Amino acid sequence: MTATMDTETAESFQSLNPATGEVVGEHPVHGEEAVNAAIARARDAAAWWGGLGWKERRIRLLNIKGALTRSLNRIAQLIHEETGKTIEDAQLEVVMAITHLDWAARKAEKVLGPRGVFPGLLAINQKCVLEYQPLGVVGVIGPWNYPLFTPVGSIGYALAAGNAVVFKPSEFTPGVGLLLADLVGQVVPEQPILQVVTGLGETGAALTRGAVDKIAFTGSSRTARKVMAACAERLTPIVAECGGKDAFIVDADADVEGAAEAALWGAMSNAGQTCVGVERVYVVDSVYDSFVGKLTEQAGALRAGEDRTASYGPITMPGQLDVIKRHIDDAVARGGRAVVGGPESVKEPYVEPVILLDVPDDSAAVCEETFGPTITVHRVKSVDEAVDRANATAYGLAGAVFSGSKATALSAARRLRSGMTSINAVIAFAAVPALPFGGVGDSGFGRIHGADGLREFARAKAITRQRFSTMNLTSFQRTDKDMAKALSLVNMLHGKRYK
Ligand code: NAD
Repeated sequence: MTATMDTETAESFQSLNPATGEVVGEHPVHGEEAVNAAIARARDAAAWWGGLGWKERRIRLLNIKGALTRSLNRIAQLIHEETGKTIEDAQLEVVMAITHLDWAARKAEKVLGPRGVFPGLLAINQKCVLEYQPLGVVGVIGPWNYPLFTPVGSIGYALAAGNAVVFKPSEFTPGVGLLLADLVGQVVPEQPILQVVTGLGETGAALTRGAVDKIAFTGSSRTARKVMAACAERLTPIVAECGGKDAFIVDADADVEGAAEAALWGAMSNAGQTCVGVERVYVVDSVYDSFVGKLTEQAGALRAGEDRTASYGPITMPGQLDVIKRHIDDAVARGGRAVVGGPESVKEPYVEPVILLDVPDDSAAVCEETFGPTITVHRVKSVDEAVDRANATAYGLAGAVFSGSKATALSAARRLRSGMTSINAVIAFAAVPALPFGGVGDSGFGRIHGADGLREFARAKAITRQRFSTMNLTSFQRTDKDMAKALSLVNMLHGKRYK
């Protein structure tokens, strides 16, 4: 069974290199029929894969990881061609995907396998088993900005939990999805545990209407709403990993140089096209000037381009250039000051670094996801004010706090309304497979990665086995004596007052 599907459809689409406009690949547009056929095949694959058992699945997943590792440069090259990101960033993306796959493969049994549970004194005659069973077929819909790492956060964990996957990659990066499925197919030739359907939004929509047991969606909040509405028809559960407007907080006693370096990388790497990228920086008054000085100085050394020495590549999705331009124009028109770059920095298909100061809180550059190499820096009186302003957004994906005080940083990290926060680093959580990844509010819900990410693709199954009979309370044969015994036990166990 090949990962690529045969199709009668005459329609096709091309993926282009955003830096050069060259055609990277041409792929079929899979319609409803092809998508449903893939789901039907995945159903059989899921039965086989789910029945293999933990040990066999673990060996195969570790072998998939090995194949990914041995193909690292080939995959990175394709990621580079389809997204425009630098080769080194593409390589790092593959490394992160490998790390996650390894963790999911090794931990699945421990997190999801059967375990005994203490039944409590009232049900002491029951032996209890809790286990997490696979859902069956998981539909994964992916974005283009991290075309391997992001989907593997769902695909790897879904496979490790015993599911089969039908994956619809972004129309900008179908080749990366197909290459992944091809590698999986080589390691696991028996059944198509990972199939790829290619196409535009409508192919993804067909997947959400199909007979899948869960949809793992990663993309914009706008599309997530459509996905959720479509999934409501069949009550198909979803995990939604959406956009963000992440804040970066710099305290008075922070390592300002390190903070500037981290903020810059968080904002500009991958041309700012990172869901957990830094979009807003809140700096405590006393270090504001020195932070802005270091940030602008370091930004001056960055350069967008296609060659090996460029800091970052082009904007992958041409339509995003208009959004970035609108945000910069609006910020400047409303009194914002561009201390690095400005409206002229948008030079299709590239955007040079833009640093904006004094941008009003209600402007697009502060409220909406920009998804470009731009950053707004704000002066605040205290970390508390920074947290309040950071939280004044509908998004809530991640964030960072730089502080010399462990207690201040931890307290701020806890109060940031988001799924993840790094202290004295940026985006550090994404490289830690044991940590869950996901947002709140417009950034979505549910978690990928970590134990929570494994459970996201499994259903809890509770089993009790009666070992002997005690008080017979759930029977019409129940006696007054049984009832009295039970009530007296409850009184003894739960009736006391606590101080
Ligand atoms: P998008 O919403 O435009 O598209 C995402 C995917 O959904 C694509 O594969 C697309 O073809 C598909 N799609 C479009 N319409 C659909 C429909 N009606 N039904 C089903 N599927 C449909 O997003 P994008 O531009 O590819 O990705 C960028 C966005 O993704 C940004 O907002 C970014 O922040 C977010 N993102 C989030 C995470 C995260 O983990 N939270 C990770 C990466 C990217």
